[in-house]
Amino acid sequence: MDDRQFRNAMGKFATGVNVITTEFNGDVHGMTANAFMSVSLDPKLVVISIGENASMLEKIRKSKKYAVNILSNNQKDLSMIFAGQIKEERHVDFEWLADLPVIKGASTQISCEVVNEHVEGDHTLFIGKVVDLKLQECSDPLLFYKGQYSSLEKTSNLVM
Ligand code: FAD
Repeated sequence: MDDRQFRNAMGKFATGVNVITTEFNGDVHGMTANAFMSVSLDPKLVVISIGENASMLEKIRKSKKYAVNILSNNQKDLSMIFAGQIKEERHVDFEWLADLPVIKGASTQISCEVVNEHVEGDHTLFIGKVVDLKLQECSDPLLFYKGQYSSLEKTSNLVM
């Protein structure tokens, strides 16, 4: 099986889109990610998966905390900024939740403390204990499907 076939298979799993944020020594860093899952209700745990080449990896190892910001449909530009798909530097305003920078207008902001990390192949899984969260009334979620941004509106148009 080649890498492309594996990527195509994984891309068939439609997901939301998050920006992971952290702060260390006053430096705020963000990265777009869709590898995110709720793990446990008691205690409240989530997991993210960060690639070995991402600069976010060392930043979370040092700060031992991260926030997950679930993006709304109108925040595709933020996803592109934090995925490096928009090359020029852009100023992004952050709010704060439990000592972590979070994205303004995200549909949900979840602040976590790292309680465990597992290196698996070329990614590291960070288990986060949820310390605070904030939900906002806002538009539909931004989606990612078959390697492309999508929306509920677009996918519902595909249904016959
Ligand atoms: P950099 O490449 O240094 O930063 C990423 C971008 O964010 C840069 O353009 C930088 O200017 C900008 N940026 C960072 N901080 C700030 C700030 N404070 N203010 C303004 N701009 C800032 N990779 C994974 O490892 N795991 C995943 O689950 C994952 N899911 C993805 C899902 C989608 C939909 C997409 C599009 C990409 C995904 N990626 C994932 C890839 C990942 O987003 C990119 O490889 C990313 O560029 C890696 O970021 P980095 O930490 O190396 O930081």
